[in-house]
Amino acid sequence: GSGLDVEQIRRDFPVLDQQVRGRRLAYLDNAATTQKPLAVLEAVDHYYRHDNANVHRGLHTLAERATERYESARDRLARFVNARDRREVVWTRGTTEAINLVAQCFAQTELGPGDAVLISELEHHSNIVPWQLACQRSGATLRWIPLAEDGTLDLSDLDALLEGVKLMSVAACSNALGTIHPVRQLVDAAHAAGAAVLIDAAQATVHQRMDVQAWNADFVALSGHKAYGPTGIGALIGTTEWLDRLAPWHGGGEMIETVTLEASTWNELPYKFEAGTPNIAGAIGLAAAIEWFDALDHAALLTHEQVLLHAATEGLQQIQGLRLIGTAADKAPIVSFVIDGVHPQDLATLIDQSGVAVRTGHHCAMPTMAKFGVPGTVRASMACYNSLEDIQQLIAATEIAAEILR
Ligand code: PMP
Repeated sequence: GSGLDVEQIRRDFPVLDQQVRGRRLAYLDNAATTQKPLAVLEAVDHYYRHDNANVHRGLHTLAERATERYESARDRLARFVNARDRREVVWTRGTTEAINLVAQCFAQTELGPGDAVLISELEHHSNIVPWQLACQRSGATLRWIPLAEDGTLDLSDLDALLEGVKLMSVAACSNALGTIHPVRQLVDAAHAAGAAVLIDAAQATVHQRMDVQAWNADFVALSGHKAYGPTGIGALIGTTEWLDRLAPWHGGGEMIETVTLEASTWNELPYKFEAGTPNIAGAIGLAAAIEWFDALDHAALLTHEQVLLHAATEGLQQIQGLRLIGTAADKAPIVSFVIDGVHPQDLATLIDQSGVAVRTGHHCAMPTMAKFGVPGTVRASMACYNSLEDIQQLIAATEIAAEILR
C-alpha cells in the first residue's frame, strides 16, 4: 500500500459511486477535469443559499459576507501556491484566460518586430495560439523548444533559442504525455537571457507541490477544475513588478479607480486585471477544494500516483501492438498510447463499454501528435481517488478492445 486511504478519499466523491454501461465507473480522465469532493459542492451550495451578493460594492451584510469569503479564497490560493503577496493572485476563468491576459498585454507594450517569444513543441493549444496571435499583432517571432523522442524537451540549443526572447512560456507538466519539465532550470536559463517566464501549471497544480517562489517564474497560470475545484475559475499568479508594469487588459467595473467620460485610472493590484463581476462561487469552491486537498498526506499521494502510473505502464505494455507515447522518467500520472493498426477513436469507444472513462484524440496538442506521427492517442490520467482496481479495469478493457479491433 502507498499509505493513502483511497477508500476514504473516494467516499468524498459521490460522482464516482455509479455504474456506467452496467459496469463500475473507472474515471481516468482527470487531465481533462477532476471530480469535485463534497466539500466543494457544499461550499458552493452554502454560498448561494446564504451569502450570495455582489462583491466589493455593497455595504450591506450579505455583500460584506460575500466579499469576505471571496477575498479569503484569494488568500487561500495565495498560501497554497506560496505566493509572496495576495496582490499577485489575479482570478481568471482558468489557464487559458490567464495565458491570453499575459499574451495580449505583452503584445500591447512589450513585444515588437525583432523580439521573440519562446514556447515548446509540447504545449497545449492554449499555450500556443495566444502567442501566435500576440506575435501576429506585434510583429514578434514565435519559436519553440523541440520535443525529443521520449517526450522530454530537447534543451541542447536552449541558449541559442533564448536569444532576443522577451518571454518564454512553457508548461510545468504536459497534459498530452505527462512529462514533467525542469521548471527551475528553464526559468533560470530564460532569466539569464533577459526573458520573462510564464509557467502553465494546469497539470502541475495537484501532482506536484506548488511553490511559485521556488519556480521563480514571472507568471504562473492554473485552472481550478483540474485541482478538484469548479470549472470557470482559475488564476494568474504574477509578480507585482510585472502586474504593475503591464497595462490593463479587459476594461469595466472593478478594475478602475476613477472614470470620467474622457479617461480612467486603474484600481490597485490585483483588481486592475479583474474587470466585471467575478466568479464568486467559483473562487469559494476552489478555496474549498484547496482546503480539502491540502489536508491529504502529500508524500503518500505522490507515491500513490506513481504506483498507479507504474501499474498502468506495466500492464498496458503487455498488450500486443500497444505503443506508449511519452516515456520520460519524470512523469505525472498520465499514460498516452496507441495500438498499431487501430484508430484511437474506436479503441476509446470500446473502452467506454467497460465503464472506463479515458480521453482520446489530440488532447489540444496537435503539434505533439504531429511530432509522433499519430492522429491522436488514448490517454488515461489519474487522480488521488483512483485505485489499482481502476487501473486493472483499464488494462482489461484495453485488452478486450484491442482483441476485437485487431
Ligand atoms: N494547459 C494545459 C497543460 C492543460 O492541460 C490545459 C487543460 N487541458 C490547459 C492549459 C487549458 O486549461 P483550461 O481549459 O482550464 O483553460
